[in-house]
Amino acid sequence: MISPPVYLDNLATTAVDPRVVEAILPFFTHQYGNAGSKTHAFGWAAMEAVDRARSQVASLIGATSKEICFTSGATEANDLAIKGVAQAYGAKGNHIITCVTEHKAVLDPCARLARQGFEVTYLATDSYGVVDLDQLRDAIGERTVLVSIMAANNEIGTLQPLQEIGAIVKEKDVLWHCDGAQALAKIPLDVNALGIDLLSFSGHKIYAPKGIGGLYIRRRGKRVRLQAQLEGGGQEGGWRAGTLNVPGAVGLGAACEIASSEMAQEATRLTALRQQLYQQINAHLVGVCLNGHPVNRLPGCLHLSFAGVDGAKVLIALKDVALSAGAACTSGSNVVSYVLEALGLERDLAFSSLRFGLGRFTTSEEIKYVSDRVIETVKQERV
Ligand SMILES: *Cc1c(COP(=O)(O)O)cnc(C)c1O
Repeated sequence: MISPPVYLDNLATTAVDPRVVEAILPFFTHQYGNAGSKTHAFGWAAMEAVDRARSQVASLIGATSKEICFTSGATEANDLAIKGVAQAYGAKGNHIITCVTEHKAVLDPCARLARQGFEVTYLATDSYGVVDLDQLRDAIGERTVLVSIMAANNEIGTLQPLQEIGAIVKEKDVLWHCDGAQALAKIPLDVNALGIDLLSFSGHKIYAPKGIGGLYIRRRGKRVRLQAQLEGGGQEGGWRAGTLNVPGAVGLGAACEIASSEMAQEATRLTALRQQLYQQINAHLVGVCLNGHPVNRLPGCLHLSFAGVDGAKVLIALKDVALSAGAACTSGSNVVSYVLEALGLERDLAFSSLRFGLGRFTTSEEIKYVSDRVIETVKQERV
């Protein structure tokens, strides 16, 4: 039994896992202390909970607690990482490297730095959205202070070759910031094995609440220096001022602990559901094109173009299925996605695409329902 609407937009945001809700609740009602209050039991309880959350997050990525800075989300973490490194390493150089398919939360801080005199190199990708590694190697120079390349793309789901990027930045001895908002808790991410120096993540993409996220900042090996962007109290080791969001941090910690034990199984289940969706659609429709890498992709992300239809019209006709045409931040606008443009997808096909974001609570029955509805709707739009 399913009860529409069906939610298939888990790359935009996820429901909070009931186990996470349960972990958070006491921090609203009874243990509402300020984690910075050192003089009473309310503050100590909050601090203890935050310490535990920090170690749950750290443990998922092979870091230590001292390397985790809580933020309001991945946008703020990206902003802190990119501007923070640029400002702290200004004496070394003024060159930053990123990729054309990055999230706006990476591209916008880079654009600001460019206006302030930094030189920014935008690497191209192949038609799957995989970054060009030769271009990366060639782009790194004496004055390069940071490479910012994401783990998994938020529109098409393509995973970047993290191992290879890590080897290149190590060989060239430059810092690597990785936007892991879509990848954390979905695929294994070990910051030491991969050589990541800064890793951004977000609570609401991994079944924790909105308004919490964090940044891993390497201390072991080469210690990363960072200029704080939000000042006024020196919390979070001076990296990020402001009273800590204790319930949020507790929720992010709980979500990471759940992912530590369930991620592998969930990836297998989601991959099977994604293939079920793709196969059912493909069996009944011609002119369906898969965007992003066929294999190296997020388990829960399917991105398809339907030749000859307007994706926006399909979305409207599919009222009882929550889907998007791409990134939530640009949906509803009449411009072609810059990510699809980077793949070299022709304009009409780009406008005919839909992103299916499967998640922890997606069932096989829902996938069957959605594929039937998509097939029916695309056929209607094509006549
Ligand atoms: C969602 C997302 C962000 C922004 O995260 P918030 O926590 O919503 O600020 C950044 N990068 C990527 C890749 C994302 O998917």
